[in-house]
Amino acid sequence: MPADLKRCVDFHGHICPGLIYGYRVAKEAMKLMKLKRSRDEEVVAVCENDSCAVDALQVLLGTVAGKGNLIIQDFGKNAYTVLSRSQGQAYRFSRKTHYVYTGKDKKLFDLLDAAVADGTASEEKRRQLKNLKIKDLLARPFAEIFTTVPIPFTEPLYARLAPSEPCAVCGEMTMSSRMKKASSGRRICIPCSQKRRL
Ligand SMILES: [Zn+2]
Ligand SMILES: [Zn+2]
Repeated sequence: MPADLKRCVDFHGHICPGLIYGYRVAKEAMKLMKLKRSRDEEVVAVCENDSCAVDALQVLLGTVAGKGNLIIQDFGKNAYTVLSRSQGQAYRFSRKTHYVYTGKDKKLFDLLDAAVADGTASEEKRRQLKNLKIKDLLARPFAEIFTTVPIPFTEPLYARLAPSEPCAVCGEMTMSSRMKKASSGRRICIPCSQKRRL
């Protein structure tokens, strides 16, 4: 396993086809725009799902949840837009077709796939099928998996910084830009405004 993929697996917790999709996208974006892992917010990723793939982008591109440069718009699509502020470039990578196995073990793949589909596959067979898929996704040309489209670069906003103040109801310190105004005019946090906890 390549060292950079190993880092993704360590972070994510397991290896799976979803993680490989993200790995391939991150590597392609890095190649196309000559990116290094983002220290601050030089690179921004917009992910149109919140699945396993996102974790590979976090590890390789440094587009991570806590820095404001990972935007998740969960449309349930296997699609990712990666923007580089320094290059002034952006690409969107998306899948338009179903997954079709193209490796050498087509017969075995179809057998396993059928067993999984009709619910008769053992744990071992499921694992075998997953591994065939992973190997295939790692080996094939990127263009066979994703459609790549350069898109006009528009500078994304930087993460907003705002001071915190205590919520007038629960008293917890809350980022002021996230607070709501109650009918009483008092400034309160979102859960208090919706009378709920999480
Ligand atoms: Zn996973
Ligand atoms: Zn509150």
